[in-house]
Amino acid sequence: AVKQAVKQGADLKGKLKEVFGYGQFRGTQEAVIQNVIEGNNTFVIMPTGAGKSLCYQLPALVLPGTAIVISPLIALMKNQVDQLNAFGVNAQFLNSTLSKAEMNKVKRDVISGDVKLLYVAPESLTKDETIDFLQKATVSFVAIDEAHCISEWGHDFRPEYRKIRGIIDNIGQVPIIALTATATPKVQLDIQKNLQMDDASVFKTSFNRTNLYYEVRPKHNTKKQLIHYVKQHKGKAGIVYCLSRKKVEEIAELLRVNDVKALPYHAGLDPHVRMSNQDAFLNEEADVIVATIAFGMGIDKPDVRFVIHYDTPKSIEGYYQETGRGGRDGLEGNCLMFYSYDDIVKLEKFNKDKPVTERDNSKLLLQEMANYADSAVCRRKQLLHYFGETFEKDCGFCDNCLHPKERFEAKDEVIMALKAVVQTEERFGLDHIGTVLMGMNNAHVESYGHDKLSIYGQGKAHDAAFWHSLLRQVLLNGFLEKDIDNFGVVKITQKGLDFIDNPHSIKLTKDHNYEEEVKEEQEQ
Ligand code: ADP
Ligand code: ZN
Repeated sequence: AVKQAVKQGADLKGKLKEVFGYGQFRGTQEAVIQNVIEGNNTFVIMPTGAGKSLCYQLPALVLPGTAIVISPLIALMKNQVDQLNAFGVNAQFLNSTLSKAEMNKVKRDVISGDVKLLYVAPESLTKDETIDFLQKATVSFVAIDEAHCISEWGHDFRPEYRKIRGIIDNIGQVPIIALTATATPKVQLDIQKNLQMDDASVFKTSFNRTNLYYEVRPKHNTKKQLIHYVKQHKGKAGIVYCLSRKKVEEIAELLRVNDVKALPYHAGLDPHVRMSNQDAFLNEEADVIVATIAFGMGIDKPDVRFVIHYDTPKSIEGYYQETGRGGRDGLEGNCLMFYSYDDIVKLEKFNKDKPVTERDNSKLLLQEMANYADSAVCRRKQLLHYFGETFEKDCGFCDNCLHPKERFEAKDEVIMALKAVVQTEERFGLDHIGTVLMGMNNAHVESYGHDKLSIYGQGKAHDAAFWHSLLRQVLLNGFLEKDIDNFGVVKITQKGLDFIDNPHSIKLTKDHNYEEEVKEEQEQ
């Protein structure tokens, strides 16, 4: 068996070279591929640019039959199919852009066994005729790209994705590989549950992008700051994300009149213009692309030197994916985000017509974004914690590390916070803990009798903002953890219990107060 494994290893490497022209596997690619070939369920969580596609493309070539690849974006699908065809691989797609005749041709090719990869949009997949057809085909495995779309807790929920499991059951028992670049622990669990692949081998690589510098600035004199920043990076490639098409046009124009080679990109542009602007950016005829979040998926430009969020993004997941497009060659990458609470409020208003659960979830994602921006804690530490990684030290390569705020001794307050969690029986969220500490009254406090607890009111020397910030840092430092089954609820960890028994000095920071900072700046 060992011999065979060695031989297969060599074969895989041969295929990698022969078909894709690469000399080496990256990271855990080979282990993932091996696992898929062995017919196991596989779950891959790797940051953008890590090389997830190869994890299903190569097994598809080796295994008999056709691999079904479910992908949410038609444009992305076409890119990949074109690329594979250029490598001499028979890959095709089924989506709404095809005519009836074209669709029938694709289906015939698949059934005849010629097609190694078939890309399918989730909307097409759920159609009865597609299911009928897939029952006749020999399916090697199903790959689910952008698997976070399955989860309502994620930032990009697609209801159709939740039907995938049922459809797979209909076409027969085939192995699944799910892939995503963004998954909080909660979303990860949700994906595995929904796809019924608790048994899957999970391949998760660190999300840390050591070469990216993270920075948040208050949204104040933003145009002036933007021009200055872009001129500092003159001639270098950069992306400026804006929330609306109108803003994209306006900012692109602003940069142009300031002698920056900038072009707009958004879904409202004529497709030819959009493509030619994208190509101009890829071919270095334009330095800066000003875009809505429609830009970037599946675009592979390694030398993007800066990513600016002109408007505050809607979620940390989105923000992280977009900043992830910087410095993919491993060299310099600067991520600047402009933040204002007004943006958060505006975004919340956009959500008001959505179904309740979706609206509530969007609100939580926005709150996380605001927390991140306000916090004076190492940005990387916060980001990685958000995606379920512990990063013990401060990174020394973000605005908060390079310009630290003064720290204060927080031993007593941390003990109070932890005791409050214990006394309220680990069944509440941070807001409620803060309320109890401050000795405030509300319906919850009363109905649970929390005003009778010994901790009640012990922290009244501080305000809600203080406790909010402190509690989040206590969480970030691993004294508390989020309860994965009850959204928003926090529990105490062993580390937290040890701290109560054996407290030690701990320095924390207060949040930024951007309004104050801007005022001070104006006075100078
Ligand atoms: P992801 O889907 O994780 O964002 P992609 O699959 O698009 O990443 O891959 C990113 C880039 O890395 C692509 O240009 C791809 O061709 C390249 N790539 C993937 N695997 C390898 C490898 N083993 N060696 C060299 N380049 C690779
Ligand atoms: Zn840092």
